[in-house]
Amino acid sequence: MDLANKRVLVVGLGKSGVASALFLKEHGAQVTVSDTKSGNELRNEIPVLLDHGITVETGGHGERTFRGQDLIVVSPGVPVDAPLLVQARSQGEPVIGEVELAAQFLPGRIVAITGSNGKTTTTTLAGEILTAGGLPTLVGGNIGTPAISLAGRATVQSVIVLEVSSFQLETIQTFHPKIAVVLNVTPDHLDRHRTLEKYIDAKARIFENQRGDDFAVLNADDPTCVSLARRTRAKVFWFSRQKEVQEGAWVREGAILFRNVDRQHEIMLASEIPLKGAHNLENVLAAVCAGALMGCAAEKIRQAVHEFKAVEHRLEFVATIRGVDYYNDSKATNVDATIKALESFPANIHLILGGKDKGSDYSVLNDLLKKRVKHVYTIGAAAAKIKSQIKNVEVVHAETLDNAVRKAAAAATAGDVVLLAPACASFDQFKSYEERGKLFKEMVRNLANA
Ligand code: ADP
Repeated sequence: MDLANKRVLVVGLGKSGVASALFLKEHGAQVTVSDTKSGNELRNEIPVLLDHGITVETGGHGERTFRGQDLIVVSPGVPVDAPLLVQARSQGEPVIGEVELAAQFLPGRIVAITGSNGKTTTTTLAGEILTAGGLPTLVGGNIGTPAISLAGRATVQSVIVLEVSSFQLETIQTFHPKIAVVLNVTPDHLDRHRTLEKYIDAKARIFENQRGDDFAVLNADDPTCVSLARRTRAKVFWFSRQKEVQEGAWVREGAILFRNVDRQHEIMLASEIPLKGAHNLENVLAAVCAGALMGCAAEKIRQAVHEFKAVEHRLEFVATIRGVDYYNDSKATNVDATIKALESFPANIHLILGGKDKGSDYSVLNDLLKKRVKHVYTIGAAAAKIKSQIKNVEVVHAETLDNAVRKAAAAATAGDVVLLAPACASFDQFKSYEERGKLFKEMVRNLANA
């Protein structure tokens, strides 16, 4: 794509929007950026854009801003069916996302990882496995380093591991991963995708440009992943923690095995995985497939998994205080992640639930609540909905996170677990799930000093 003197509009000024705007400008485009946030909210982003000669529009999108653009790059936070985008498309203006822009400027092979849960953990781990295996690896995407900002560093030798969300996949055109991993598909973001089918369709776009010499890595234990196998031209490798697979990774008598055609390797013992929960075994199996398919030696894979630490806010151990274990799973922003967190502890859980609802059904927690949870503490905007849908457990309306931690700490006795796994987004009370998780950890540390 030749960007010189092209008129390009970047919609949405998150991390990836800013990185796209700077990249486009550097490549000679005439760049405008537009965001509905106010100038004050974007005070950190604006100066650097203006310094680079980028035109900035804040506080809303002007209709004229969208007219006559050669290209529009949308941020994942902006719905693809926003009226101004629909109109721009109807006038023949191409609309793509930042991942697609990156795809057009990234040499090297891409390992793309998607799924409802486990993307960041698996992307990070796959990056470490490939690095340990001696490959020149770059890691980015939804995980924090925008894919476009890797463009300057990647070469044809690079292996680029990208975490990709359903929103990012909705705006691809030529994005073509050598390996496409789908970890699982459970209901999430239905407030934006509207139906589960549309959400699954967005995820399936990861295969759109794959060919017969590419690989798809899919979860054999997830019915939606199984049905997705029909939608790729790539060669499918499966992973399963429950059964043997023909080609891919699985567990036999406690050992993780990988098989490709008729060659089978023992990678490591499942007991050597330093992460809690069966879901993390799935993440490891997926990352093992990616590493093995890229040619990493079993011993290098083992070493990388062995040294891996839980990513912050993902079922992260915080402290043991007066015999009570505290876990921060602030990234459990949907019901399935909360189920996985509950399954990681046998009983005696004090669970903090709530935040901004995403159209979820909390009643699916009822079975686990009955078996494993002593009390639920609700916080945030979703509290009333949660209370109306859950049963089998005492519900304490705590309203705020600090109140919930104090109440849980007062009720818990030695051997119990206090778990923040809220099943909701954070935006009603916090800037992000990171802020929510950090506050939780700070409050737990304060309990230790009390
Ligand atoms: P993502 O990037 O897809 O949000 P993360 O690795 O950040 O995934 O984890 C998000 C949440 O999902 C955390 O609460 C984590 O404990 C949980 N989780 C991680 N892996 C899985 C999995 N394979 N299945 C279900 N839940 C998972």
